[in-house]
This record gives sequence, C-alpha cells and structure tokens, in this order.
Amino acid sequence: MSQKIIEVKNLTKKYGDFEAVKGISFDVFEGEIFGLLGPNGAGKSTTLEIIETLRPKTGGEVIVNGLSLDKEPEKIKSIIGVQLQTSGFYPGLKLTELISLFGGLYNESVDALKLLKTVNLEDKANNRYKNMSGGQKQRFSIATTLINHPKIIFLDEPTTGLDPQARRNLWELIRQIRDQGTTVIITTHYMDEAEQLCDRVAIMDQGNIIAIDSPDHMIDKLIASGFERSKDVKSASLEDVFIQLTGHTIRED
Ligand code: ADP
Repeated sequence: MSQKIIEVKNLTKKYGDFEAVKGISFDVFEGEIFGLLGPNGAGKSTTLEIIETLRPKTGGEVIVNGLSLDKEPEKIKSIIGVQLQTSGFYPGLKLTELISLFGGLYNESVDALKLLKTVNLEDKANNRYKNMSGGQKQRFSIATTLINHPKIIFLDEPTTGLDPQARRNLWELIRQIRDQGTTVIITTHYMDEAEQLCDRVAIMDQGNIIAIDSPDHMIDKLIASGFERSKDVKSASLEDVFIQLTGHTIRED
C-alpha cells in the first residue's frame, strides 16, 4: 500500500451552532485519484477547504505530506494546487498572460508553452480566455493547478457542463496527471465519472463519512447484500451510443 499523503482525524467544523463536519477521519494515499462524493450540503467543500488551508477548522487534526495544518499551513500551501472556478480568470487576458500572472503569485517562473502542452492547449497560447470553449477553460484551469509542481491537486466538479467527448478527454488528462505521480482529490456529482476515474471514494452525508472504499468494492458489497437493479442492465449505455455516433474527437465550438 502506498504512503498516506493526507491524514484527517476527527475533523469537526461548526458554523455557529450548526455542525457541518461531525468528526470525520480518513486517509488519502500518495498517487491515487480520491473522490469525495455526497449530496449538496454534505460538508464536502468545507472539508476540502479546511485541508486546502482556506478555512479554519473547529477541531481535529489534519496532516498533509507529513506537515501539520496547525503548525505549517504555508508549507502545505506550497505543495498543493487548487482549481479555481472558471469564473476566477480575467476574461480579456491571453492564456500565456494568465499563466505569468499566476506564476507571479506563486513566485515561480513558468514555461507557459510547456505547461499549456501538458493540457493540450499549446496552439491556443495566444487566445484570450473568454474565447475558449468550456472544455478548454476546464483544461486551462487544471493547468493552473500545476504551476507550482504540486504533490496534490484539488479539482472541484471539473467536468460539470461539458459534453461527453470533452468529459472523456478531461478524464484522460486527470489520469495522466495521476500517472505522473500527483495525487488528485476530486469532487463530482457524476457517479459514472467517479466509477471510471477514482481509485477510491468517500461518500459524505450530513457531515459524516458513511462509506469509503474503491468503487468496485462498494458495488460488489451492494450486490452481495442482495441488491438488484429494477431494469435489465445492458452492456452499453446511451452515452456509449452517443460517442459511437459522434466520435471521440473533441469539437471545441
Ligand atoms: P457541500 O460542499 O457538500 O455541498 P458544504 O461544505 O458547502 O457542503 O456545506 C455543508 C453545510 O454547511 C451546509 O448545510 C451549508 O449550508 C453549511 N455552510 C457552508 N458554509 C457555511 C458558512 N460560511 N456559514 C454557515 N453555514 C455554512
């Protein structure tokens, strides 16, 4: 088993009298894609923003790459990459200009073209952000998480609103980033995405983690409990039909 890169122990968060995170504990292993799933209001963003050092916790302990969140939050910041919502970018700037701007914030000199190449956007280097498609914007925002060569990146619903081709393309990119050794923490409301992409998932509900395992094990456990789908399961989905008919190629506009 790989090393633990994030350890969360008895984490709690209160907003006034309301306990949004109720003493959760979990580990994330180095080099995995870890999904945090759950309905709206479950406490996912609160949990991730605490680990990202963006929100204070109420109680418990968080260790990231051996660093204590209480003692060394700045060091934690320097080894993580956090995806901004796509609305966080100046629309009129070119991609290379946005990268220099972010590089400046991290105090890193960045080879913008090389970075754009990792997300397959090198030919868009001189395009303005506002003129890009949804999939390109998402790829670009993932590129910005990589500027400081982080050990862990956090992606918040990275494929929301994308068409099936762009989604699959983004999954491929996220797998490549994982395969190069970066740990990926992802939130998503798409269960097919979590099943395809995540090595392990934690399911949160009402401030608690109610299950944590690989998608495969979770599904096997449900089946072993006697669960059966009400509809016959076919060996292809409507999305497979769509991709088969329209092809894997990305249409950017
Ligand atoms: P999720 O990301 O799973 O949708 P959140 O972590 O955003 O869940 O929210 C968990 C709960 O905490 C929700 O009930 C939400 O309304 C509440 N909450 C989140 N942020 C605040 C805040 N700043 N002040 C008060 N309550 C909050």
